[in-house]
Amino acid sequence: MAVKKVLKYGEKSLREPSKEVHKVSKKITELVQDLLDTMYAQNGVGLAAPQIGQNLRVFVIDVSSNNEPLNPIVFINPKIIKKSGGIVMEEGCLSFPEAYAKVKRYKNVMVKAMDIHGKSFVLEAKDGSLLARAIQHENDHLNGVLFIDHCINRFDMDSVLEQHHLPPVEVDRLLSEPDIDEELEKEQKND
Ligand code: ZN
Repeated sequence: MAVKKVLKYGEKSLREPSKEVHKVSKKITELVQDLLDTMYAQNGVGLAAPQIGQNLRVFVIDVSSNNEPLNPIVFINPKIIKKSGGIVMEEGCLSFPEAYAKVKRYKNVMVKAMDIHGKSFVLEAKDGSLLARAIQHENDHLNGVLFIDHCINRFDMDSVLEQHHLPPVEVDRLLSEPDIDEELEKEQKND
């Protein structure tokens, strides 16, 4: 379909919650195609509808590497139905060009969603894999949550944002994640 402009941090629709999709209509299949075209054009791992200005509960992910065939996964009305463990890893986002920072995530997730044909599926992603982290990152976008809200150090995050001419962290959006903290502490003890 078309490569769309990716909205940058600071634009309103990135902070707005997205609406459920009631029917996989032509409008939705076109939206999915736009998301895929835009994600591939930007060499991204995932892209959510609000990032191209459409506040609908749809995102796409492709974690295949450059020498592998494309493997797009489409998520419509996703719900994370299980989550466990904790991991800290560096993350970025197409709405924050070139800005990377360490964030807290669950290590394992199970997600239920609908595919492009309106068929429901369940997908499990484990061990802090790129897929496990991408599912959480993209799902957050549908709730107006951004990766910087999960940062482990708000001052480091601010300096990264400043370097890339992006607005600072919104302090009231920072997430407290005691269950992840607990898991991370457990892992440290095991080391
Ligand atoms: Zn993102």
